[in-house]
Amino acid sequence: MTNKFDYIIVGQGLAGTSLAFHLHKLGKKVLIIDEEKDNTSSKIAAGLFNPVTGRKMVLTWKAHQLFDYLNQFYKNIEQKLSESFLFNTTIYRPFVSLEEQNEWMGKSADENHTPFIKQLHTIPAYSQHLNDDFGGLELKNCGYLDIPKFLKASRTYFTNKEAVLNEKFDPSGLEISDNVIYKNFNAKKIIFCTGIEEKSSTFFDWLPFSLVKGEVLEIIPKDNFNMIYNRGVFIMPRNNEKFLVGATYDTKDITYDKTEKGRNTLIDKLEIIFKPTYTIQGQRAGIRPATKDRKPFVGMHPELDKVGVFNGLGAKGVTLAPYFANQFADFLVNEKVIDVEANISRYYSLYFR
Ligand SMILES: Cc1cc2nc3c(=O)[nH]c(=O)nc-3n(C[C@H](O)[C@H](O)[C@H](O)COP(=O)(O)OP(=O)(O)OC[C@H]3O[C@@H](n4cnc5c(N)ncnc54)[C@H](O)[C@@H]3O)c2cc1C
Repeated sequence: MTNKFDYIIVGQGLAGTSLAFHLHKLGKKVLIIDEEKDNTSSKIAAGLFNPVTGRKMVLTWKAHQLFDYLNQFYKNIEQKLSESFLFNTTIYRPFVSLEEQNEWMGKSADENHTPFIKQLHTIPAYSQHLNDDFGGLELKNCGYLDIPKFLKASRTYFTNKEAVLNEKFDPSGLEISDNVIYKNFNAKKIIFCTGIEEKSSTFFDWLPFSLVKGEVLEIIPKDNFNMIYNRGVFIMPRNNEKFLVGATYDTKDITYDKTEKGRNTLIDKLEIIFKPTYTIQGQRAGIRPATKDRKPFVGMHPELDKVGVFNGLGAKGVTLAPYFANQFADFLVNEKVIDVEANISRYYSLYFR
């Protein structure tokens, strides 16, 4: 294994993997240091990418830029790796009231929303599966990424390039001078993409993380269908008749424990919307690297220009990672600008406090 690299990337979740591909595309040599674990946020996540989110059903932040770019990026990597992990699947969001239906009839004519609207239903459209008395919205340009498959194929790709160290990064092995030296490896810069671990790290523990635990159920419903239903809870088809149901949001219990409370919350939410009977096959718990202002953390350390961070993807890693990895790589290599809303310079005052 050669020991000279342009960038060391610590962490191979959605953030580190996306950044590695972008730097690689710009002709840079990357070394990825990642300790393989099963319960990282990226491995627990359902992988949904949905342009209309939240209880109020609003278009997500930067939807147009993010969604165009994510489709391009993942499809390109699918081709490069001869694998498929991006699934464009319709999402159906039932309306909860006539007011909401009316509001969306207006929005459906608005060009800001049309790229994401497949069809608007004013009467029940999927009542065999759902309580959708007021109709609902079928969304396009959405679906899910099979994240574990994406990460595994990417890891193999970089391993074949002798660019992966499967170990826990040890800060005592790092030396920063004109270059970055880690053990016997040499690079120009080091970028931390370590998800929730960054909250207690050496360089970026001052960033305002706001971790959020999430739990997901694996179910097998009596009826099979090929659409994602989403209202209060998502019900998403996966392989072998298995469906994922999620997710909970808990800011108090930041543990990896699978809880009865989480399971019951999801069952109660299913009860409101979903008609078919089902059996529960499994449960997962993970922790989202969310931030106080719900925007990513991208950029360089306030005092160390060789140390950077790419994190804070919160509940939307699939959507945010490609776009901001592209921006960050362009900043690192071509000195382009990072979006002010994502650049960690917005928090430098916390570091100097
Ligand atoms: C229950 C749940 C459901 C979710 N559902 C969705 C969804 O449907 N759609 C969506 O877009 N997002 C979803 N998310 C959010 C998504 O998972 C995150 O935004 C994203 O995975 C964060 O990626 P990351 O690379 O920043 O962090 P991580 O996935 O945590 O990756 C960090 C990597 O760094 C490694 N690492 C950490 N410290 C070290 C160290 N010291 N040395 C070596 N390696 C280290 C870890 O092992 C890991 O591989 C969900 C999250 C949860 C918990």
